[in-house]
Amino acid sequence: MKNIFQNQLSTIIHNGNYRTLSTLVHKKNKIYYEDRWLLNLSSNDYLGLASNIELRNEFLEGLTAEHFIAGSSSSRLLTGNYDVYNRLESRLAELYESESALVFNSGYHANIGILPAVTTRKSLILADKLVHASLIDGIRLSDAQCIRYRHNDYAQLEQILDTKTSHFDIVIIVTESIFSMDGDEAELNRLVEIKNNYQNVMLYVDEAHAVGVRGKQGLGCCEERGIISKIDFLVGTFGKAFASMGAYVICTRRCRDFLINTMRTLIFTTALPPVNLEWTLFILNKAILMSDKRMHLHKISQILYTPLNRLNGEQHQSCSHIVPYIVGASERASHLAKEIQKAGFYVLPIRPPTVPLGTARLRISLTADCSLQDTKELLSIIMKEDKSE
Ligand SMILES: *Cc1c(COP(=O)(O)O)cnc(C)c1O
Repeated sequence: MKNIFQNQLSTIIHNGNYRTLSTLVHKKNKIYYEDRWLLNLSSNDYLGLASNIELRNEFLEGLTAEHFIAGSSSSRLLTGNYDVYNRLESRLAELYESESALVFNSGYHANIGILPAVTTRKSLILADKLVHASLIDGIRLSDAQCIRYRHNDYAQLEQILDTKTSHFDIVIIVTESIFSMDGDEAELNRLVEIKNNYQNVMLYVDEAHAVGVRGKQGLGCCEERGIISKIDFLVGTFGKAFASMGAYVICTRRCRDFLINTMRTLIFTTALPPVNLEWTLFILNKAILMSDKRMHLHKISQILYTPLNRLNGEQHQSCSHIVPYIVGASERASHLAKEIQKAGFYVLPIRPPTVPLGTARLRISLTADCSLQDTKELLSIIMKEDKSE
């Protein structure tokens, strides 16, 4: 037994993909690492809310011991469904102008729970090649058949739909809005048009990296494009820009009722801590007003992705605050990350199996706390390293 682990670990080490957990000290948007404070460009705190001490103080001022309930002690279906769940879900439904919303423990719970619940052996899932691991796991746990289409290749998607749709009870197209590793976007309007050509095709959009960041109120790319009501399953997370924990789906009332009755990752897990839900609601109400932060983030993102897109080649064209710099080999990505860390930026290498083989990269997550000056400095360091390669 011991040898199995050792052999596999040796392979991982040999391929330059060995991972460890580092303990990090945080102060605002800085991280203490190897005796220095580095600007954190590897977090998903896209609006800088998780690192904002004033917001925490304001929240604490309004909190009493009575509301500080750190554990819910039960599933939502037994005694864990505290009133704050209703307030949060009503608020979400109101903001999205949708019939209803349902909150989950995390985006991972949402993605591995919804797809198995809503599909059967007679269903077909069509997923973008680059969807997040949690969606892949949801597909694996479902009885549905699955075909992956090439990343954002809607001609291929339509071809599959034309030949397959009539053989299945339902077909679900699964995509992210902003993709987590390339920072590029799905053409959501096109996907809506495509699904509207069929009676039994639905659209599942994971907005994990877009909520908080896109749209007038930060409700995501679907808000930005005015197509919220066209999406059958609109999934957002609270763990990223919203600086909390948990996730939600925006859907019809009937779909919500159905999920409450069938979704295993909702039924068979302890409900979120009420204090966590209170914080989420607090942050949500703040974040919808933060257009200035969204605009600043958009501006510095453009400054970084415009030149890096030229280096990355046409397969990897970011148009968001997630900006990769593709270098190919894992060792090169690790080495480059070290160099950039020396210059004061906490940037990490992303290696297979998180990204496809041969596309190891630096993945820069800009946040609204990152200044124009910081962004320009980072860019000039990357450009220097690129030339010295
Ligand atoms: C982070 C992420 C998730 C998982 O969300 P958690 O709330 O962190 O579990 C799901 N989908 C995508 C695309 C993500 O990036």
